[in-house]
Amino acid sequence: MKSMRLIQPGPLQADSLKLVDLPLPQPGEGQVRLRVRMCGVCHTDLHTVEGDIHPPHLPLTPGHQVVGIVEALGSVVSGIHLGDRVGVPWLHQACGECQFCRRGLENLCPNAQFTGFHVDGGYAEFMLAQAGYVLPLPAAIPDEQAAPLLCAGIIGYRSLRQADLQPGERLGLFGFGASAHLAIQLARFWSCEAYVFTRSTEHQRHALEFGAEWAGTAADEPPQPLDRAVIFAPAGYLVPRALELLRPGGTLAINAIHMSPIPEMPYRLLYGERTLRSVANATYRDGVEFLVLAARISIHADISLYPLESACQALDDLKHSCINGEAVLVV
Ligand SMILES: [Zn+2]
Ligand SMILES: [Zn+2]
Repeated sequence: MKSMRLIQPGPLQADSLKLVDLPLPQPGEGQVRLRVRMCGVCHTDLHTVEGDIHPPHLPLTPGHQVVGIVEALGSVVSGIHLGDRVGVPWLHQACGECQFCRRGLENLCPNAQFTGFHVDGGYAEFMLAQAGYVLPLPAAIPDEQAAPLLCAGIIGYRSLRQADLQPGERLGLFGFGASAHLAIQLARFWSCEAYVFTRSTEHQRHALEFGAEWAGTAADEPPQPLDRAVIFAPAGYLVPRALELLRPGGTLAINAIHMSPIPEMPYRLLYGERTLRSVANATYRDGVEFLVLAARISIHADISLYPLESACQALDDLKHSCINGEAVLVV
C-alpha cells in the first residue's frame, strides 16, 4: 500500500514525507483495518513533521482525521461491521482504567495513544484503528466534509465548551483556520456574536463570510469587550492580548498542542476572576456529540483537496495560511 512516511522531522521541505510502499497492516485484537478515503491535514501534523512535538517512533505515517471503510476485522471486535463508514480521530485509544479515564476525561489519560503520532495514521491507503474509538459518521455528511470535522471540528467544539461559551455571548476567536471556521458555525447556531482576530486579510474576509460580527488583527480594538475567547494560533503573545480584551469573569481557552512562550504579563490581566485554560485533545463523547450536532445544523467545511502524494504541498500551504478552511487528502 502507498503511504506518506515521516523519516526525519525538521523544517518542512518538499520531500519531508516520502512516498513508500508498505505491506498491508493486519488488524490485531479489538482492531479494524480501514481503506482510507480521505484524510484531513491538521496543524498537529505540521508540528509533528517539523519536530515541534516528538512522536515516540519513526518512521511514522501522520494523519488523524480519517474517513475510511472497514474492510477487515481483528478478533474480539463487536458493534462494527465490514463496509461501515467510520471516522478516525486523534485519540487512538486510552487506558480505560486511570483516574482520568474513570472520570470521562480520557483526553487526559497519561497512557493515551494518538493517531498519526503513536501509531500510523491516515496519510496512506490503509490503516489500523481501535474498533472502540472510531466514530460513527452521520450519513448526511459526505466524505470530504466529514474529514475536517474529525479533529478541527471536534477540538473546536471542545474549545467552545472549555471557554464556557453561553448562548448569546460575545466570543473572540484568535486565528481563523480550519478549527475556527467550524467553531464559528456552532457559535452562530448558539446565537453568539463572533469577533475574529487574524493577521491574514484573506482569513479576515473568510471570517466575515462565515458571519463574524467583526474581523481585524490582534492589534485592533474590537467594538465590544469579549465574554469568552479561544486562541487557535500557536502564538504565546496572543495570551495577554486576549486577556486584555476579556471582561471580568470571562474565560480564555487555548486550543494549541504547542505554543511559543507566553510573555510575562501583569497580574491585572487575569485578575477580575478571568479564567485561562488550555484544551488538550478530545474525548470520544466530544466526537459523538459534535458529529450529531454538525449533521443537525449542516456545518459546512471549506476544503481544498490534494492527492495523497501532495501531502507536503498541503502542509506547506497550511503553514503559510494559504488555505481557507482545511486541506483534505484524497486517497
Ligand atoms: Zn488535529
Ligand atoms: Zn487512562
